[in-house]
Amino acid sequence: MTDKYDVVVIGGGPAGYVAAIRCSQLGLATACVDEWINPQGRPALGGTCLNVGCIPSKALLESSELYARAQHELATHGVQCKGVELDLAAMMARKDKVVSELTQGIEQLFKSNGITWVSGRGRLLSGTRVEVTPAKGNARELEAGHVILAPGSSPVEIDHIPLTDDLIVDSTGALEFDSVPGRLGVIGAGVIGLELGSVWQRLGSKVILLEAQEQFLAMTDDQLGKEALRQFRKQGLDIRLGARVTECEIKRNKVHIEYEDAKGREQEQVDRLIVAVGRRPNTRGLASDESQLLLDEWGFIHVDEQCRTNLPTVYAIGDAVRGPMLAHKGSEEGVMVAELIAGHHASMNYDAVPSVIYTQPEIAWVGKTEQLLKTEGIEYRTGMFPFTASGRARAAGQTEGFIKLLADADTDRLLGAHIIGPHASELVAQAVLALEMQASAEDVMLTVFAHPTLSESFHEAALAVHDRAIHVA
Ligand code: FAD
Repeated sequence: MTDKYDVVVIGGGPAGYVAAIRCSQLGLATACVDEWINPQGRPALGGTCLNVGCIPSKALLESSELYARAQHELATHGVQCKGVELDLAAMMARKDKVVSELTQGIEQLFKSNGITWVSGRGRLLSGTRVEVTPAKGNARELEAGHVILAPGSSPVEIDHIPLTDDLIVDSTGALEFDSVPGRLGVIGAGVIGLELGSVWQRLGSKVILLEAQEQFLAMTDDQLGKEALRQFRKQGLDIRLGARVTECEIKRNKVHIEYEDAKGREQEQVDRLIVAVGRRPNTRGLASDESQLLLDEWGFIHVDEQCRTNLPTVYAIGDAVRGPMLAHKGSEEGVMVAELIAGHHASMNYDAVPSVIYTQPEIAWVGKTEQLLKTEGIEYRTGMFPFTASGRARAAGQTEGFIKLLADADTDRLLGAHIIGPHASELVAQAVLALEMQASAEDVMLTVFAHPTLSESFHEAALAVHDRAIHVA
């Protein structure tokens, strides 16, 4: 049997489900094929992000932060909180509830938008044909005017460090621990390693992060990375840079790790180990050989600026294509390709995609780093504002970090914003808007911000670009 649609989307994560919704809003008959099965054995929409990524990690970050603050911070506000106890099972159940409410929310959105949800594994047969193999039952074929590939990504596994059920886990396993490990190792001090390491450190683990690179958070502005390293080490996160793990062995229910660093061969013993060394695109077996879909050497689907693949009727979006592996990047690509399929003009500004690390303090940035501007030979001016000088940050007792703005020395146009501090994830949005609107530092300087807010720090940083900051000595 063959079903016909205007658009068939493979993948129901933030890239695929958003593409499907926008296609349907534009009047296109749309089906979305997804193979995710949740721990309750039910098909679920939302992909990595909702099921085992952004949402459950943020739920645990929020809960663990409350626990840590109740233990260490509330007393400084004059709130005495005696006998604070962790109920890990309740914390996990809350996280699971948040996930299930949100994934069911996508199900509702599919219903209200008239999108056909097809549970099963999709395979591209040609530019207009998709085969779907359900978990049980026979394969069937869908025919489509256009196909959008949004298969997402999976954690990279290290060949010589195989995962076990509970002792050596990937990011998914690290969201499911049933007890707080005494000593927790994390291979990889990137975004996911830092976020998951922070959760368990707040809940009581001694966390050791082994990072092969010599530079911490090499993708961020140098000053931001240095400040983050200082803050995390002060909190007790044991971050070891230039540490290349060579072997892991389980002995008497402990994980023995061997690694090499500048000093030579080192050893460590932990109760549990998280492997967080990056993600790879889910493109194995995604397309038949006859389809002739082009992948690059790392397995990403080859696309142009508008997410067109080498096949005229096929687009690809999200983690499985070049660019940052971020949910909001995939979603915006989804909207763009839906518009293009409907015959509209559409493009995406990849220069204004924000990145966030949801640690404490939070880290967020958009646009170019100072080192990139130097490499590109662009003359720039810098404006910095420390949160110690912010009345609101002081009132909240969260004065770590700063906002740093970079503006073109000739045109004054904002080129980058780099934030480490309280609510950086929210603060960065105004910088994103400024970059998207091609605002100058002066535009921000001439804008009135409410007092006392953390946002005033953004204003002060813009003033500082012109050596006019009011609240810095
Ligand atoms: P996915 O979300 O991976 O979805 C792809 C879907 O396609 C899945 O449901 C998969 O089962 C399905 N699929 C794959 N192949 C097939 C096939 N052949 N047939 C049918 N279905 C298929 N990003 C952020 O922006 N912010 C965050 O805070 C954040 N936190 C994260 C925390 C963790 C622990 C992790 C692991 C990731 C986090 N990410 C975060 C990254 C984010 O989850 C991804 O960037 C995002 O999910 C990518 O969306 P996607 O739609 O491209 O793919």
